[in-house]
Amino acid sequence: MSSSFPSVSADALPVVVIAGRPNVGKSTIFNRLVGRRQALVADTPGVTRDRKEGQATVRGRAIRIIDTAGLEEAAPDTLYGRMRASSESAVANADLVLFCIDARSGITPADEHFANWLRRQGRPVLLIANKAEGRQGAAAAMEAYSLGLGAPLAISAEHGEGVADLMSEIADRLPPTDLPPVQKQSRRDRRIQQEESGEVEDVRPPGPLRLAIVGRPNAGKSTLLNRLLGEERMITGPEPGLTRDSIAVTLNDDEGPIQLVDTAGLRRKARIDETLEKMSVSASIEALKMAEVVILVLDATLGVHEQDLQIARLIEREGRCCVLALNKWDAVEDRAETRQAIKDRIEMSLAQMRGIPVVSFSALTGAGINKLLPTVRRAHEIWNRRVPTGALNRWFEMMVSRHPPPLVDGRRLKLRYITQAKARPPTFILFGTRTDQLPDDYQRYLVNGMREEFDLPGTPIRLLLRASS
Ligand code: GDP
Ligand code: GDP
Repeated sequence: MSSSFPSVSADALPVVVIAGRPNVGKSTIFNRLVGRRQALVADTPGVTRDRKEGQATVRGRAIRIIDTAGLEEAAPDTLYGRMRASSESAVANADLVLFCIDARSGITPADEHFANWLRRQGRPVLLIANKAEGRQGAAAAMEAYSLGLGAPLAISAEHGEGVADLMSEIADRLPPTDLPPVQKQSRRDRRIQQEESGEVEDVRPPGPLRLAIVGRPNAGKSTLLNRLLGEERMITGPEPGLTRDSIAVTLNDDEGPIQLVDTAGLRRKARIDETLEKMSVSASIEALKMAEVVILVLDATLGVHEQDLQIARLIEREGRCCVLALNKWDAVEDRAETRQAIKDRIEMSLAQMRGIPVVSFSALTGAGINKLLPTVRRAHEIWNRRVPTGALNRWFEMMVSRHPPPLVDGRRLKLRYITQAKARPPTFILFGTRTDQLPDDYQRYLVNGMREEFDLPGTPIRLLLRASS
């Protein structure tokens, strides 16, 4: 075949073979990886298809991709025989085999048969549970763990979910290269490829980052808002369908727009029959429900108040990410001591958000304020992060063998595998037997370990427990 990468001939590229029984979505995965423009057009079922080949780029490296779909028809009698014959030569020459199953239909005897055969071929295999879209998808996909081919990677080729993970898992498994690097793609080509593969959706959800500013009365929220508006280019306009004093405010920093939510709530003053304290919590609830990132503003001269912690717990409960802003830093006398005292109090009281980012500044003078939005961006990025399933389960096995779960009523609790069901905030499902009895401290051991291993400071992390057979 002719190569579109002039510096490296196609024969020299690593070969990735997509295999599995008919109808699990091999061609759809192929199209995702190769990109619609280069792929051959899908064809009528029952008609002999040519072996499809294409090229893709994973982490800057060109690979050759072979889709074995359709080869079945040209081969001997039984389904197993056909699948095997069709895949045999392709698999024998593969640097990596993507073995696909259909998460929705579960594991079939044909899958098991094929997996057993594949295990004996001695080629590196990445197990893919396709059609795993939606909330149930990731859980259903985990059944594939029983095939003994390692942790399945849940994706939905049709919806483009998990395709970025797939690419990075492929890149992790390629043989080392001494070939010259592939010619650098133009930004635009890369962007198009990302869009086609669904990668873009994963990395950056659409729309501006939504930010709320909350805190107790007099912490300096309005001053901070004005400071931010003064420093950054601002676009304002009436928000349709809302009251007149509700203005949609969008800031722009170097990385793009940030939408401030519920700035009206910020200006609202407490009614006579409400105490100020009550008011600040209820206003915070409204604001943070609409936000992705929440800046919790503290008056640093007063230290941490119980009500600040109450708001922080709300933020955690709602699954938002939080940046702690120590305001009025200009008026703080012993800064090092104050900072440490506040940090200690927060770490002790908010274990569920360990590593919460802290920024100190003066909204009044503007000193230190430049650190705020970059910190917000970083927190947002962590909150959006996805951990590849393979890496997650390698870590998980290490954690469990280092420190097995305790006996409950004299019986050992079995933990089998873990998968990330979603991001925003990072949410993981842990499968095992009698997981409902898994002690809290063991769950904390896992969550804290995960924070460290996968660099997830400050964000709420959800660990859901599921019984598996
Ligand atoms: P192949 O025979 O293994 O190459 O499978 P195809 O790629 O032709 O897909 C078989 C069917 O599954 C088609 O109708 C696809 O549209 C559908 N399909 C592929 N991927 C997904 C997915 O992620 N989710 C769902 N729900 N359907 C999918
Ligand atoms: P809000 O109720 O949280 O919106 O608080 P305001 O923004 O209205 O501020 C309350 C008071 O704190 C005002 O008198 C502000 O001038 C003052 N203030 C706000 N930020 C700072 C700061 O960084 N340093 C000092 N010294 N005072 C501040």
